[in-house]
Amino acid sequence: MQVGHLSSTESKKCVVCGKKTANYKTYEQTNIELRIPLCDTDEIRCYSKVDISDTANIAIRLIKKEIKNSY
Ligand SMILES: [Zn+2]
Repeated sequence: MQVGHLSSTESKKCVVCGKKTANYKTYEQTNIELRIPLCDTDEIRCYSKVDISDTANIAIRLIKKEIKNSY
């Protein structure tokens, strides 16, 4: 599981506070990536509050398994 940071030109609502942000926390495993919009400014640090490594790990495994079983 690789945890990373991504700045995009595309803004979405932060999952924690609902403010528009272009910062994403990414969780990648075996080339499948989850992108969670989370603001990361000096005032608001939703980015550091969220850690879903374990859940992302399970979710990506399940997604991969389903894809393998379907095709
Ligand atoms: Zn936020």
